[in-house]
Amino acid sequence: METSNDKLERRLYSHDLAPLPKEMDVIFKTMPDSVVRPQYTQDVVQIVRKAIATSKPIVPRGAGTWGLGGSVPVKGGIVIDMTAMNKIISIDEQNMVVTAQPGITWKALADALDAKGYFLPCYPSSSPAATLGGWIGTGGTGIGAYKFGSAGDIVRDLEVVLPTALVIHTGDKLIPQNGGGPNLNWLFVGSEGTYGVITEVTMTMFPKPEELRPVSYSFSDLTKFGPALKKLVRSGVTPMHIMFSDKLHFDYLRAIGKNAPEVGCLITCALTGSKASVDLEEKTLDEVMISSGGKKEPKELADHEWSERNYEFRLREMGVGAIPGEILVPIDKFVTVVEGTRKIIQQLKLKAPTIGTVVDQNTVMLMPYYLTDEHKLVASTAAMGFAKRLGDLAYENGGRAVGLGIFFAGNLSKYRGKDGAQLVRDIKKVLDPYEIMNPGKMVETGTRFGISIPAFLMNFGMHMMGSMKRILPRDKVGEKELSSLKK
Ligand SMILES: Cc1cc2nc3c(=O)[nH]c(=O)nc-3n(C[C@H](O)[C@H](O)[C@H](O)COP(=O)(O)OP(=O)(O)OC[C@H]3O[C@@H](n4cnc5c(N)ncnc54)[C@H](O)[C@@H]3O)c2cc1C
Repeated sequence: METSNDKLERRLYSHDLAPLPKEMDVIFKTMPDSVVRPQYTQDVVQIVRKAIATSKPIVPRGAGTWGLGGSVPVKGGIVIDMTAMNKIISIDEQNMVVTAQPGITWKALADALDAKGYFLPCYPSSSPAATLGGWIGTGGTGIGAYKFGSAGDIVRDLEVVLPTALVIHTGDKLIPQNGGGPNLNWLFVGSEGTYGVITEVTMTMFPKPEELRPVSYSFSDLTKFGPALKKLVRSGVTPMHIMFSDKLHFDYLRAIGKNAPEVGCLITCALTGSKASVDLEEKTLDEVMISSGGKKEPKELADHEWSERNYEFRLREMGVGAIPGEILVPIDKFVTVVEGTRKIIQQLKLKAPTIGTVVDQNTVMLMPYYLTDEHKLVASTAAMGFAKRLGDLAYENGGRAVGLGIFFAGNLSKYRGKDGAQLVRDIKKVLDPYEIMNPGKMVETGTRFGISIPAFLMNFGMHMMGSMKRILPRDKVGEKELSSLKK
């Protein structure tokens, strides 16, 4: 097992996708004391034992592509980089399950299954980098969710090293959890690395469908997709995936020389199944979309959009940060929330495209993002204010922000109620009696001093950051590129 105490390397592990400004060091000790790279479950057991003996925090980390600080220390300690645990343990073709170590990327696993004629039903759009443990750890939703469910839905069993160094299995590899007592798989799905370290994952796999056919439709504006969306979820058509992007997203892409359509917004659905069933679904989908004001776009465009599904943040190629906010809202609030999001973007003097997916028949995920120089304090100020306001908008409309991490731990009581949140804290105490497993996240915003920031203060602070952003000058990142497009 590799261990590093090198300062530069430790610095690399002191942030995730969204770098924190150095001013935050006053509150959080984001620099780990060491970084370890286990290869086997027993290595993780040893790390946990050492952490207990030395009272050092441990922080499980996949690829660090989540932006809410889940894999960033707040009190230093040991970061466990899981990416060396990246082996496929078995592909059971008889029972259609695959078992792998948690540090493999979703793409590497999907490619290995593809080579054998199988198909991973869902994965995050960050699949070229994101690890199995990371996505399951965040309880994420992603590509394939509309037909096959999200990260937790395909899990059969997890091997987990608990914060007491015990190793458990949460399910049964070959059969689902139904009727076997409380579902322990789901206890760890979305626990954001605070309940234990996932060291092995067993999931269902599917035979590759005869046909996977992307189809795209444009509308004059994202809000105009609302009526079509209502019809679509009642139509009986079940695309594997439904994704959308607004006009500004494509404008920016064209401004940096990418191939992107000139449309008000674009909806792309991926249909899977036998050729005959996909033909039938496409016909129904055409009727639904066109009767609701949509225009069918050429096959080449649909194929191109599908090939780009893992690269929504190409604008980062401009050398700037793309800071996303992510919310889940009920289907019937889609238009209200798109309009509300635009209002927030305007109030905070941002320019922010909106992309998203239809997660299931009831839910839409919206991910507006804006470009900024992420290393400046003003940028992170805006990020906090933006994410806070966006989360509040979702909550007012029956939805919520995605993830808790460091900064949104205060939302736990809002989402689960006072007693529900207390139960989550109690479970954490039982599992982690030595308080070593990724402290300061999910159930509290912890600081380097061991005291946590009360939820009301954190929420107030983030709201004030948004208010500050309203009086700060407009962020001009990306404007030059956009204006070159207009000429
Ligand atoms: C371009 C882009 C696209 C994205 N698309 C999606 C998407 O479609 N859907 C989506 O849900 N998210 C998406 N995300 C967010 C992010 O990529 C996912 O949450 C991702 O799966 C995290 O994986 P990771 O390996 O980077 O985890 P990390 O960021 O390293 O960790 C995430 C959390 O999981 C915990 N963790 C990591 N490994 C383990 C382990 N082995 N055991 C226990 N806990 C662990 C960490 O402590 C942390 O709390 C996207 C991000 C980017 C940048």
